Amino acid sequence: MPVPPLKNNCFAMPAGVNWTPVDDALEQIKSGLHPVVEREKIAITGALGRVIAETVLSKRNNPPMANSAVDGYGFAHDLLPDNDVIELPLQNGVAAAGIPYDGLVTAGCAIRILTGAIVPSGVDTVILEEDIALNDEATGIVFRAGLKPGANVRRAAEDFATNDAIFDAGHVLRPQDIALLASAGVSDVVVYKPLKVAVISTGTELVEVGQAARADQIFDANKPMLLNLLRDWGFVPIDGGHFEDDPDIIRNGFNAAAEKADAILISGGASAGDEDYVSKLLGDEGVLHTWRVAVKPGRPIAMALWNGVPAFGFPGNPVAAFVCSLIFGYPTLKILSGQTKTSVQSFKVPAAFEKNKKAGRREYLRARLNEDGSVEVFKSEGSGRISGLAWSDGLVELPDDAASITQGDLVTYIPYTSFGI
Ligand code: AMP
Ligand code: MG
Repeated sequence: MPVPPLKNNCFAMPAGVNWTPVDDALEQIKSGLHPVVEREKIAITGALGRVIAETVLSKRNNPPMANSAVDGYGFAHDLLPDNDVIELPLQNGVAAAGIPYDGLVTAGCAIRILTGAIVPSGVDTVILEEDIALNDEATGIVFRAGLKPGANVRRAAEDFATNDAIFDAGHVLRPQDIALLASAGVSDVVVYKPLKVAVISTGTELVEVGQAARADQIFDANKPMLLNLLRDWGFVPIDGGHFEDDPDIIRNGFNAAAEKADAILISGGASAGDEDYVSKLLGDEGVLHTWRVAVKPGRPIAMALWNGVPAFGFPGNPVAAFVCSLIFGYPTLKILSGQTKTSVQSFKVPAAFEKNKKAGRREYLRARLNEDGSVEVFKSEGSGRISGLAWSDGLVELPDDAASITQGDLVTYIPYTSFGI
């Protein structure tokens, strides 16, 4: 099935809006996008991390037949004598997992039954072996009354039934999901092909790590960070190169990346400075929407289509590039990859810091939990401080409104694990 192209206005922001709140920006992004990857059918054993592309129906009941949940003895409950202590004669034979007892269990008799065994005809209830005693001749079992009808029996289809929808499109398969597919008799699933994302760094001052750097140059930190972020997210990272601040060179880089990838992440050069060609190019030759998103660290963020391929221009500061990738890149790429769940799990925890912020923009602080469960933030908010990224285990999210936080106030903490890293 051909994948429809994204609409030119998919990244458009509402007209007349100056600073867009983060939540509005995210809503807008999500509503204009759809999966851009094709589908393929693969074996479930190799489907870990893949995105389901079509509703999956169970091919059988689970359990397929009623079976015993314990090792014990089975009988028909409604034929039990009305005594406090009950004795039932034992019928010869055993029902075991994979070795059904084919005969009928005679009314008023019990039979040995093991965990997972199909419940034989004439049996609807199983008593745990620890709850009985054998009679002196070992020809019958003795137990106290009180067991409920159907006890210790797993009913056919009590878990799920043939043709039940066990997964919807957009779900990302985890090991336990593969167990569900296997038990439903589903050996192949239709999934989306993994999203290919190219990463480009721009900046004349950048040098690839491993090469010699003059004192006036810096190592490119964003490209290795973003490539590995993409790998953690289950996408296919493509090294799109790093380019000096020269529009012709950057244009060639964009063209090459758009040939190979389903989406492009660009860092650096997204502001309106003299040497900032990323947003200029995206605007002059692509379909650009520069978003003045009310977020720190972050702005500005360029979102554009380059030759029809979604391209994100993030700030060059590694802290801002990282935070923007988590807050804007992650949900957007998820949708492009076919995923439907873009919400991020956060927790309210007491602050181990103090902070005043003005109204008007969302703020994300590098943070980590203390042993007492409170959250501390990195000593500097400077967005060039890469050491704070490595120090932190998550982000504290401060609201768009003004806030004056003192020790012990509850604040929103988002661990990096919530962002899939
Ligand atoms: P820019 O967004 O291009 O104005 O860059 C902002 C700051 O981030 C500058 O100090 C750049 O040197 C720095 N920077 C840009 N790209 C990278 C990168 N890939 N790795 C490390 N620092 C970068
Ligand atoms: Mg730059």
